[in-house]
Amino acid sequence: MPEDRKPGPSSPFLHDATLLGHAGRDLPARGGRAVNPPVVRASTVVFDSLADWTDAMPRRMEPDFMQYGRFGTPSHFALNDALARLEGAEAALALPSGLAAIVATYLAFLGPGDHALVADTVYAPNRNCCNGLLKRIGVETTFYDPAVGAGIAELIRPETKLIFLEAPGSLTFEMQDVPAIAEAARARGVVTAIDNTWATPLYFKPLAHGVDVSIMAGTKYVVGHSDAMLGTIATDAPHYERIKKTIHELGYAVGPDDAWLALRGLRTLAVRLARHHETGLRLAEWLQGRSEVARVFHPALPGDPGHALWRRDFAGACGLFGLELQPVPEAAVAALVDGLELFGIGASWGGYESLVLPTRPEKLRSAVPWSGRGPTLRLHAGLEDPQDLIDDLAAGFERLRAVAG
Ligand SMILES: *Cc1c(COP(=O)(O)O)cnc(C)c1O
Repeated sequence: MPEDRKPGPSSPFLHDATLLGHAGRDLPARGGRAVNPPVVRASTVVFDSLADWTDAMPRRMEPDFMQYGRFGTPSHFALNDALARLEGAEAALALPSGLAAIVATYLAFLGPGDHALVADTVYAPNRNCCNGLLKRIGVETTFYDPAVGAGIAELIRPETKLIFLEAPGSLTFEMQDVPAIAEAARARGVVTAIDNTWATPLYFKPLAHGVDVSIMAGTKYVVGHSDAMLGTIATDAPHYERIKKTIHELGYAVGPDDAWLALRGLRTLAVRLARHHETGLRLAEWLQGRSEVARVFHPALPGDPGHALWRRDFAGACGLFGLELQPVPEAAVAALVDGLELFGIGASWGGYESLVLPTRPEKLRSAVPWSGRGPTLRLHAGLEDPQDLIDDLAAGFERLRAVAG
């Protein structure tokens, strides 16, 4: 393989923005002197001799050994390497979707008779997995109040094997005291995993806060352009072995083109997130001042119930937040949303474009019933000029008023 290039930067003390530009570029098969590593597509990998083939078999657990396409090519290894450095983890893995990363983590640590503690505010399909697949294989789930903090200790049973966190929570953005929960779990030998899609490791580093397994829907800000599905898992060596074995058993494989898109997304993550943070907060502040809005759910707002935890543990916010309108008929919400010109109506987020979606938290909470009275929405602030987004929303409120009276 052509090794005619200088190795990448060796300092372990580089800032994240620098890592984003340099990590994952000093691996083999990187395409001569091109800045970006090439896409390496492979199913079959051929070996020179029977002895080489036999030697290769056990090496497929290694993070950068190409034995068969399903276990990854240099395109995946470059992404995994960059993710691990960013997360401060010993190893990271790309998976076919964010949900696939969540499910693989559950299956790695839970089996019949085991018990899982899962935050009441997790991503809805995560909750469905607990109530469906996990239940079918004999795993019991208790959904806990995300505000539980160190009180999680009282919910841990002898058969509790995993605690799942998500901060802030999906749709309603409640913060969690992650270090307190992680410490209580560690004291009892329970594995912790967190869905860190919202903050990304740029704004919150789960492993540095005591969590064992850091998960992201890379589909969102890592890919960043709404054009590929990807999940990520980052962890330390003992948990990595178990997760990787489970992924091999599941047969998950990520296309090398998607891995390449994710690595390219990482290069601009720092600048994109800074802008999403700024615009999201500006919209949230403006919405807070509107009489049509009952509450804005955004932990970076000083009045938010999760603000102190966000300030203590997080280095920034992304562009995703929620709001509750004053009670109005559904037709008034439709008038607001349907006429928006810059906000698309659709699932997912984390791309360059703004989005809006009605939410139904009342259907997705069991530990703490939803107390809101008005319709709720989720907004994603994209990379557009914030004033244009505000003007679009302002026109939307005019339409809402025209219908609601
Ligand atoms: C979107 C999302 C996921 C799932 O990611 P997919 O790539 O769509 O499977 C998981 N967690 C959170 C918080 C999400 O927003």
